Amino acid sequence: MKIVLSGIRPTGHLHLGNYFGAVRNFVKLQDEYKCFYFIADYHSLTTHPKPEHLQENIRTVLSEYLACGLDPDKATIYIQSDVEEVAELYLLMNMNAYVGELERTTTFKEKVRKQPNNVNAGLLTYAVLMASDILIHHADYVPVGKDQEQHLEMTRRFARRFNNIYDVDYFKEPQPFNFFGKDLVKVPGLDGSGKMGKSEGNAINLTDEPEVIRKKVMKAVTDAGPKEPNSPMSEPIQNLFSILELVSTPDTVEHFRDEYNKATIRYVDLKRQLAEDIIKFTQPFREKYQQIYNDLDYLRKVRKMGKEKAKESASKTVKEVREIIGFKDF
Ligand code: AMP
Repeated sequence: MKIVLSGIRPTGHLHLGNYFGAVRNFVKLQDEYKCFYFIADYHSLTTHPKPEHLQENIRTVLSEYLACGLDPDKATIYIQSDVEEVAELYLLMNMNAYVGELERTTTFKEKVRKQPNNVNAGLLTYAVLMASDILIHHADYVPVGKDQEQHLEMTRRFARRFNNIYDVDYFKEPQPFNFFGKDLVKVPGLDGSGKMGKSEGNAINLTDEPEVIRKKVMKAVTDAGPKEPNSPMSEPIQNLFSILELVSTPDTVEHFRDEYNKATIRYVDLKRQLAEDIIKFTQPFREKYQQIYNDLDYLRKVRKMGKEKAKESASKTVKEVREIIGFKDF
């Protein structure tokens, strides 16, 4: 069975964009592939989080993904720092990664701009840690967004280089996993343009309370309304329809499209309906999340299970890599 691996950043809450763009697909993949999903807490140290925030974020993120349907009996769900072998492979891989190539990565250059007072070595070697995460389980596929394509290319380069240096055929080169057709959606934000995102302040989180959802949707950007029948639709209105299509019934969508085309639409009605349908869609998730978040025994059990499964595969790789490199008994 082919192996899929994906890292999850322990920051903030999942929003509708994360769900429809990524998590929903992770849930589907569990049935067809051997999946490794991990919470990238070593990576998050590059921004120097406070210890209490780090713990809280990991618990939140783990609970949210479980609430979405990631299944610890199907996939290996673990916390990166629970598998110390990752740190050892990272150390070994760093010896064959060159400062020049690391300095040239787009994400590194971006971070230097964003946090000029904290350009730490972890940022520089981010791609090496990511390569170690992937190679430690010999992943075949990594579902990556556009921003991570370069890291995956570097992972392939590190794998090839390792094989060349030690004259082995050990690491395989992971490929990007492409979601096809309707599975690949971009969820727009509520501010009229661009996509929904944590940092844009235009997102609806799966854990948002109904009142919060209503407030956010009612504040969404619109236009002055269609002046005549069959007017072209502006981007902010298209965006509202795009979200409506994800959470509402086809009848509802058709009703508002008709109203728009007849130029009789009242955006306040559209927004009210959209808010209620988002609330209905996210309701089971909110309930499940609360239940999982409060069940520390269950979370500990999931964590332990993931750790054991991940360590089994990781320790085998590290043992073999050590031998290839020449760390052996006399
Ligand atoms: P982020 O929250 O930016 O770390 O994104 C995590 C993953 O969620 C990304 O790799 C994307 O696949 C997905 N994602 C985030 N925002 C959106 C969006 N607005 N539309 C579709 N997918 C998204």
